[in-house]
Amino acid sequence: MILRECFNQTRDILSKNNIDDASLESELLIRYAMGYSRIQYYQNTEHEITAEQWNIIQSIAQRRLTGEPTSYITGNKEFYGLDFYVNKDVLIPRPETEHLVDKALVLARKYDNPFIADIGTGSGAIAVSLAVNLPRAKIIATDISFDALKTADINCHKHKVNNRVILLQGNLLEPLPHKADIIAANLPYVRKEDIPASTCEPMLALDGGDDGLDVIRLLCRQVPDKINTGGHLLLEIGLGQKDSVFEILNGLSDIKDIEVLQDLRGIGRVVCASFR
Ligand code: GLN
Repeated sequence: MILRECFNQTRDILSKNNIDDASLESELLIRYAMGYSRIQYYQNTEHEITAEQWNIIQSIAQRRLTGEPTSYITGNKEFYGLDFYVNKDVLIPRPETEHLVDKALVLARKYDNPFIADIGTGSGAIAVSLAVNLPRAKIIATDISFDALKTADINCHKHKVNNRVILLQGNLLEPLPHKADIIAANLPYVRKEDIPASTCEPMLALDGGDDGLDVIRLLCRQVPDKINTGGHLLLEIGLGQKDSVFEILNGLSDIKDIEVLQDLRGIGRVVCASFR
């Protein structure tokens, strides 16, 4: 069998099992199985594969069918045009979080040497994307999970920003040694009852309690003591959480204004609050 037929069969199996993006996932899994870059993959689509290679591809596709996300199988996820190493200790970066990075970049470019905090950094996707795009920024990234920080550390080295991203373990803003200009956070915000039983991702990164806002509430309480005058807080939120988050923020001292940015599906996804 040639590689292209192997792709077609794998894609059909995935799509029959209701896996979205079956074409992309099939390509990623086959490339992983074959050890091919994107270019090598396209150079080899008409070449025969061995029976042994087909067996390996099928067993990897089987893992996907039993619910393991492609990113955990391959150990990679692209975010903000960069390749991140991921594993079961961290949430797989989502495209909607790129809106938060976009906004943070716009805000950070008003400063000569912005000091940015990424809270609940996980794989380090936000902190590393900001560091790569802001060569003069200093960034502190925190997480309560030591294993998550080990993953973030690998990504900081991979993208050569380990000298400008400092990783600290601790509860939200507590490890921050001084006030930040921008605080960015993609905290767990999924309502406990909405977390799929089948999820492979860490509960610690998803579970926001009964209304999904337990951790965001804790963070907001810490923010006034940890943000510079004129600073900005960026929070990722989920469907239907905007009004509650506005209410929490309006209860803080020194709030100047609050706006919400929508993701590509029209869901209010990033809340941006400015402080006096
Ligand atoms: N967007 C993720 C999801 O819906 C949740 C991310 C988070 O809780 N920070 O699965």
